[in-house]
Amino acid sequence: MSGGETPLPIPNREVKPTSADGTAFCGRVGRRLIYCKGVLPLLVKHLFLFIMKWLPNVENLNVTDIFNLYNLPLSEIIKIANDFRFKINPFNVVTYVIERNINYTNVCCVKCKFCNFSVNRNDKSSFLLLYDKIKEKIVELYAYGGKQILLQGGLNNQVRLSYYINLFAFLKEEFPDLIIHGLSPPEIVFIARVENKSVEYVIDALIEAGLDSLPGGGAEILSDRVRKIISPAKCSSNEWLEVMRIAHKKNLPTSATMMFGHVETLEERFLHLIKIRDLQKQKGNNYGFLSFILWPFQSKNTRLVKEFSIKKVSISEYIRMLALSRIVLYNIPHIQPSWLTMGTEVAQLCLHAGADDMGSIMIEENVVSAAGVSKPSMTEDIIKNLIIEAGFTPAKRNNKFEKECIFK
Ligand code: SF4
Repeated sequence: MSGGETPLPIPNREVKPTSADGTAFCGRVGRRLIYCKGVLPLLVKHLFLFIMKWLPNVENLNVTDIFNLYNLPLSEIIKIANDFRFKINPFNVVTYVIERNINYTNVCCVKCKFCNFSVNRNDKSSFLLLYDKIKEKIVELYAYGGKQILLQGGLNNQVRLSYYINLFAFLKEEFPDLIIHGLSPPEIVFIARVENKSVEYVIDALIEAGLDSLPGGGAEILSDRVRKIISPAKCSSNEWLEVMRIAHKKNLPTSATMMFGHVETLEERFLHLIKIRDLQKQKGNNYGFLSFILWPFQSKNTRLVKEFSIKKVSISEYIRMLALSRIVLYNIPHIQPSWLTMGTEVAQLCLHAGADDMGSIMIEENVVSAAGVSKPSMTEDIIKNLIIEAGFTPAKRNNKFEKECIFK
């Protein structure tokens, strides 16, 4: 399906039956049944098919509906998400991309409480990469068989719009088939502020210079209550959404993300999904969000974990949120688990819970690993084998999710 023009009902569980115990349900009625489950399991079993007929249309799920879905037994939410996955992406193929993360600067004036990557300008370890250094990294990327970079950096007011424009022009001249998947809504908003220009002006200039797609970093949780706590100086949730709205209007492919498991409430997570889903409804025939990537907060040595008592996201909680995202974001074509933060085995399980993309082999990663995750050592062969071992056919893709090579 190409991004949700057709209303997609929650799969009819009568047509594709669930497990024998029949305890799955959702919708408002289901919430009450959760509390009865221990007391009246037989009643739940016999009411199951009856309740399924009342399922709300997935395109308009509200917070209560999502809460009820979230509270399903894990096996049931996984089954529904997997049904959705195969309705949206009917082939037994899982994609990946060969991409290099390049962080052009670690100087950032914003100081998010969950970030160990950024430093002050006068810090000994501060850097701003010269064009030739970036070129060197891309030469290595091509040696790996890749041609896509994920270019992101801190919010550094020494880096003007001309840095990006000249960099993109330079790189496209050196590597004509290079794909620049770069920056993020907070960076775009920041550049616009530094330049005293509109967001639209900046996006136009970057597209003109060679930006191919815009990653959805910096969304964290799209709640200003949460953002005031974890990243008070970063763009607001409305600003994040507005950048994406303009990018979609320009037909620039984008992705959406969520970093969860810190100070947000469940309702704030669900509203985050609703905001992304509703923005995607406005994309018309343009690319819009092509994928959604979900990762848990990485706490090691962060100021956030020192200030708040934060429980680590468990594996089942992660898989539940991923499955939920697949259902609620019915109009986003691809769902990606985070093998970097959750491990490759969890990512394989996620392929049976709604995910259909393993993301990048991440030839270089500096940001998440600064908060306690081991540096990745992924190769194309490893990612292909992970996909095969999980029961799928691997396919190499590009930033538009066009399959460049299917490994039958
Ligand atoms: S997450 Fe990004 S914006 Fe926030 S402090 Fe780190 S580099 Fe800066």
